[in-house]
Amino acid sequence: MEKRKIGKTGIEATVIGLGGEHLDNQPYEVVEETIHAALKQGINIMDLFMPGEAVRQNIGKALDGNRDRMLIQGHIGSVDLKEQYDVSRDPEICKKYFENLLRDLHTDYIDFGMLFFIDSEAAFDTVFNGEILKYAQKLKRDGTIRAIGTGSHNPSIAAKVVESGVIDLLLFSINPAFDMTPSEHNVLDTFDTETAFRVQDFAGIRPDRLALYKLCESQSVSITVMKTLGAGKLLSAEQTPFAQPLTVCQCIHYALTRPAVASALIGCKSREQVLKAARYTTLSDEERDYTDALRSFQSFAGNCVYCGHCAPCPSAIDIAAVNKYLDIAVLDEVVPPSILQHYQSLSSHGSDCIACGSCEERCPFGVSIIENMKKAAKVFGV
Ligand code: SF4
Ligand code: SF4
Repeated sequence: MEKRKIGKTGIEATVIGLGGEHLDNQPYEVVEETIHAALKQGINIMDLFMPGEAVRQNIGKALDGNRDRMLIQGHIGSVDLKEQYDVSRDPEICKKYFENLLRDLHTDYIDFGMLFFIDSEAAFDTVFNGEILKYAQKLKRDGTIRAIGTGSHNPSIAAKVVESGVIDLLLFSINPAFDMTPSEHNVLDTFDTETAFRVQDFAGIRPDRLALYKLCESQSVSITVMKTLGAGKLLSAEQTPFAQPLTVCQCIHYALTRPAVASALIGCKSREQVLKAARYTTLSDEERDYTDALRSFQSFAGNCVYCGHCAPCPSAIDIAAVNKYLDIAVLDEVVPPSILQHYQSLSSHGSDCIACGSCEERCPFGVSIIENMKKAAKVFGV
């Protein structure tokens, strides 16, 4: 399988990698089957952000005898305090979980020590100007990790991380829908002009995301891709934002054709799913081509673009923010802790909606806002 360089490390990763999240809460047999299938296909990189002891031990057992054939992205700051996924910025807790990862994987090194979930200014400041980065640098000096990386979903924060010059590897969420969903700024610019609103205005890659990819390329920081398939939504005729669903291989090809991308990580929990992803390497350029699907990108009808035109709300709900956090939350089986915190910190929540309907009259995109508020109340519990 084709390999690409990771930053300036000299390490090379296969273009298809394994996302670990679907191995969580699976019996050992499933974990073994999936990892052994990946190894057999020549896949040499996997992400392991999961903090749970059981899944880590299962992966460790499945890798016994093959540890040196799989590059591991191990995260610093991913914890499961109170038996729930969480982010910790406590250096001692981060250290404990990282040491436990080494123990559970029966190894004395992790290839990429990933500073976990750097999505906000606060996270950046705490981690990069504090003890956690120093801990990662010490791990690198003593050879316990081979390189430092970061995981992020936020292009502007990720750019700050890259500019810090500390990392060789960025784990970032990339797919065509994410790339083409306009940033709030761009949408408002469009509405500020005299010209009528045109959906074609959105048929391009978000400038901040494109700038990030280019920055990574220019700084020799490699990207491994998460959310390659948009949590499966891009493959579904019902859920895709495009006029037609993409194939797994088209999504992979899209990710691999972004600047700086080294590997597209695909969450798998069976041999069949591994084979389906690895099939990418056998396809022709025509079979990988995603341009037809993207050319059909003509309408945002029903999709919130976070423009804020639905305000004001008599219940003081920040509808755009609720929709944004909801969109992110439903991409995962488990609501990311930082997203839950952001949602909880809003002054009003989905449960405050009185269904007056005035927002829906103002929304230019026909978003089912009342439904979304109900869904948010259910997903976030308030
Ligand atoms: S329908 Fe709900 S969200 Fe919309 S304006 Fe009325 S109270 Fe607010
Ligand atoms: S619900 Fe409609 S008006 Fe409100 S932020 Fe979303 S797209 Fe804009």
